Amino acid sequence: MKQQFIENGYEIVSLEEKADIYIINTCTVTNMSDRKSRQMIRRVKHENPKAIIVAVGCYVQVAKNELENLKEIDLVLGNNEKKEIVKQVEEYIKNKEKKQIITDVMQKKEFVDFGQTTYTDKTRAVIKVQDGCDRFCTYCIIPYARGRVRSRNMESIIKEIEQIAKNGIKEVVITGIHVASYGKDFKENISLIDLLEKINNIEGIERIRLGSLEPTIITKEFVNRLKNLNKICNHFHLSLQSGCDETLERMNRKYKAEEFENCIKLLRENFKDVMLTADVIVGFPGETKEEFQKTVKFLEMVEFYKIHVFKYSKRKGTKAANMDNQVDGNIKEERSKKIIEISNHYGKKYNEEMLNTKQSVLVEEKEGEFWKGHTTNYVLVKIKSKQDLENKIVTTYIKEYKNNELIGDCKDNSSM
Ligand code: SF4
Repeated sequence: MKQQFIENGYEIVSLEEKADIYIINTCTVTNMSDRKSRQMIRRVKHENPKAIIVAVGCYVQVAKNELENLKEIDLVLGNNEKKEIVKQVEEYIKNKEKKQIITDVMQKKEFVDFGQTTYTDKTRAVIKVQDGCDRFCTYCIIPYARGRVRSRNMESIIKEIEQIAKNGIKEVVITGIHVASYGKDFKENISLIDLLEKINNIEGIERIRLGSLEPTIITKEFVNRLKNLNKICNHFHLSLQSGCDETLERMNRKYKAEEFENCIKLLRENFKDVMLTADVIVGFPGETKEEFQKTVKFLEMVEFYKIHVFKYSKRKGTKAANMDNQVDGNIKEERSKKIIEISNHYGKKYNEEMLNTKQSVLVEEKEGEFWKGHTTNYVLVKIKSKQDLENKIVTTYIKEYKNNELIGDCKDNSSM
């Protein structure tokens, strides 16, 4: 959206400066996000009474009625309308007619392709390859806000990545709402692995990183093809959510803990020095002490490098919000702390194992006397060097692990 405005001659200013038009891209993932979206709209209007306020995005998409009472907004655009935001704003400027344009995302069959994007990050580009989700996990509002799976045309993705490679970006992160579903809506038999094989052939791209993956995609066939791609990074972020089958079932997740464990084995057998990270929700409705203990045991067995813990929070409009046995806030807090402890423990263990190893680091930026970047398996490393290492892939010898940070030593800056 920002780029569309720039292309049409508008100037983008920071929130601290005064603007004529404010675009508020709302989020609805939790009840708290809804509240924050509303607060932001009110705050911006209060501080800039004469400005045009445009609300877009997921909260807008699912909360049509609530927004009718928000008199601060001039224009409301759903997720499908983001592509024509400039046209809609200009019409508003001309006619001063307040409008809500929200088409039903559930009826949408095609990916809204924004085409080529300009990246401000010189090192890494996040490429969205699909939208929507058909899974309907009981805690999640996303399928209602984003609609069904719609995949982006493969040629459009390849064209965009070829262009960014020409601009010097070395790493792409392949992402979507449910990236494992890529291609499911195509008539042709195309899936995520077909797309990754094509991206792997693009000259100039040196690393391909995968965004959060649902474990059901990690099959033998998928891994056999994936391991042949030399640019795929040996880091996988998996959405586990719980290590207990009963909880997983109530969440409407489509796998059991044992199947998840098999995915992990497959990845560890096929990718050298692979780092695995995961998302876990604690305090899901009905999660007993015993169920939580199963998750703890599971996490201690699989030893993730890092776990992102989410305390379950009710999301209006989802099945889980009306489930019995909602878990008390203090218990959620305790459980969250326990998972963080496990995460820190194994994070430290893996970091210590990195000591005295040689790593390939894609350097992102300078911070004080250090350069900062990530290894292929997404471990942050700081490198002391007087040379300009920005956006270079360098060989680093990990010499120190201090204050939770890995410090590398760079003998030369040749690409690996
Ligand atoms: S798979 Fe992910 S996006 Fe889809 S419903 Fe479940 S949590 Fe939400």
